[in-house]
Amino acid sequence: MFPLKLIVFIALVSIVAAGPWGQICAGNPRNKVRGCDRHGCGRYGAPRGGGRKHLGVDVICRDGSTVYAPFTGVIGGRVNPYRNNNAINNGLLLRGSGFCIHMFYIRPIRYSGRINKGQQIGLMLPMQKVYPGITSHVHVQNCDRSDPTRNL
Ligand SMILES: [Zn+2]
Repeated sequence: MFPLKLIVFIALVSIVAAGPWGQICAGNPRNKVRGCDRHGCGRYGAPRGGGRKHLGVDVICRDGSTVYAPFTGVIGGRVNPYRNNNAINNGLLLRGSGFCIHMFYIRPIRYSGRINKGQQIGLMLPMQKVYPGITSHVHVQNCDRSDPTRNL
């Protein structure tokens, strides 16, 4: 029989290992980060074109999936990842519980108001139409551009 003490220990470690944010995308309960694909890598600081760095973290999310509020707070309005419009050019600014983030590539349900952690806030946009073969993802970026990975 598996000793109960060991089960309790593993449960506690997995709670400690997870960050303060709740699940971001349906189908990805542990906020798994995109690895590398032919379009790039999903981790914070990964190289991007023109000598730039990836200033957010890419949380895996299949096109059309439900997206949730990672913490309790307010919606601060719409934010767009691109200057030129395309099928995934939408997102939200979220603020509260000591956090301020941009979440890109989602179609929001609304652009203002209060949110509770775990509440549905939108749907993943059709990223495969814009970047065929990419690991579809929600891009999460801290407002101060610091590394958000430990919050996942
Ligand atoms: Zn990204």
